[in-house]
Amino acid sequence: MTQTVGHFIGGENVLTQGRTQPIYNPSTGEVCGEVELASVATVEQAIANAQAAYPAWRNTPPAKRAQVMFRFKMLLEQKSDEICQAISREHGKVLHDAAGELQRGIENVEFACGIPQLLKGEHSKNAGPAIDSWSEFQPLGVVAGITPFNFPAMVPLWMWPAAIMCGNTFVLKPSERDPSSALMIAQLAMEAGLPAGVLNVVNGDKEAVDTLLQSPTVQAVSFVGSTPIAQYIYEQAAANGKRCQALGGAKNHSILMPDADLDNAVNALMGAAYGSCGERCMAISVAVAVGDEIADKLVASLKEKIADLKVGSGLDNSNEMGPLITAQARDRVLGYINAGVEQGAELVVDGRNIVVPGHENGYFVGATLFDRVTEDMTIYTDEIFGPVLVVVRVDNLQQGIDLINRHEYGNGTCIFTRDGEAARYFCDQILVGMVGVNVPLPVPVSYHSFGGWKRSLFGDLSAYGPDAIRFYSRRKTITQRWPSSGVREGVTYSFPS
Ligand code: NAD
Repeated sequence: MTQTVGHFIGGENVLTQGRTQPIYNPSTGEVCGEVELASVATVEQAIANAQAAYPAWRNTPPAKRAQVMFRFKMLLEQKSDEICQAISREHGKVLHDAAGELQRGIENVEFACGIPQLLKGEHSKNAGPAIDSWSEFQPLGVVAGITPFNFPAMVPLWMWPAAIMCGNTFVLKPSERDPSSALMIAQLAMEAGLPAGVLNVVNGDKEAVDTLLQSPTVQAVSFVGSTPIAQYIYEQAAANGKRCQALGGAKNHSILMPDADLDNAVNALMGAAYGSCGERCMAISVAVAVGDEIADKLVASLKEKIADLKVGSGLDNSNEMGPLITAQARDRVLGYINAGVEQGAELVVDGRNIVVPGHENGYFVGATLFDRVTEDMTIYTDEIFGPVLVVVRVDNLQQGIDLINRHEYGNGTCIFTRDGEAARYFCDQILVGMVGVNVPLPVPVSYHSFGGWKRSLFGDLSAYGPDAIRFYSRRKTITQRWPSSGVREGVTYSFPS
């Protein structure tokens, strides 16, 4: 019997017998379950539950909320194997990579445990004669999160632990392509003592998302996904008077300087380009080589390493790269590889005809490497979101910086060099939100914040860390005087001078 993944509303698992869609195991191509796609009424039920839970949760002391978070973190660690199995089964990433994803999510929960410290506010005594002034940070009410398929456990954990620790209640809409882990994790939060209705999960598609966007009850929306949808979410949220942060797609470049430690750079690029089959918003998909000498060595070395890359089922921990998420995603990536060949790039390693014995129906594409790629080719302009690394050759660092700064995306980037001056100049000049120096995936730790520039982020505040406190709370500034303290004033019609 196929397992149906439903919703989690008001602390209960809910099945509505509504529309469904299959969930696939990308490693085998087999259906491994189905997910319900919430109707307007189901989403409204989740919003109503979040609204009902809000007054009591808002008034729960932050330290008591933190106790729930501490218990929740322990449960996540205890249940990590089960969660990683679910991630790998539905997403396809290799189990050890799923464990890394979950660990990053747990670090966001750890950060959330300390949020009472960050909610303390600001106070000024004697802002005027016998006047005290302070700012406090109040929750918004019901907030919503809409998340992508590629980090089904981690990205929801970027959002709701911080949001509820600030006193909000939450409705999460995970990706319908791999919905199980987010639901399992929500159930663990209940086990940890989270009151019913504080966190609700609705699975679904555009209908569910639009209901959240149009609801007058939902005060703010956090989104992570592709750029066209991020822009749509941001515009709709603004039109409906909501606060919004919408993180979008990426085309992350790394610059390889002639003085770089080549072995280190090649190892780093292998993981950053092909880890999780390139389905990471921080994946490096463009290697910009400064000078032909280092470019030739880079391409030769990558070619050698790719030959040893172990591609196979995500559920087999001896593999290094799993499949893509769906058959459509595979066909889309194959289309880009074909276009790269047609547009004149040099195909150094062709991943199109890979066969994984025993998994012939899985959505595999082998690691692919293109050289002599130019700025007009679609394999350069577009986010492919697959295991395709393109090499662009430039003559000097400035050309590399200018190339990156012309690209529409600005999520992550990295420079490989031994030259501190070049690295410092790069960090200063580059129009990208997250920058690495000899660090290929410069994902900020949980107590910093995560966000790109340009069309990789719509909104003013990044995800998690300190920005999350500002996003999920609103400042109220109170100015107070007690006339009995001896300072009384007559009528004044002008600002005091
Ligand atoms: P997606 O944009 O297709 O979907 C994201 C979410 O939006 C899902 O929950 C989906 O149900 C919903 N959605 C999809 N189409 C919609 C529509 N027409 N109207 C309303 N809602 C809709 O993204 P994806 O394929 O799940 O994820 C991959 C993308 O996410 C890549 O572009 C990747 O770069 C990006 N991403 C970005 C970050 C970041 O931090 N910047 C992190 C992870 C992933």
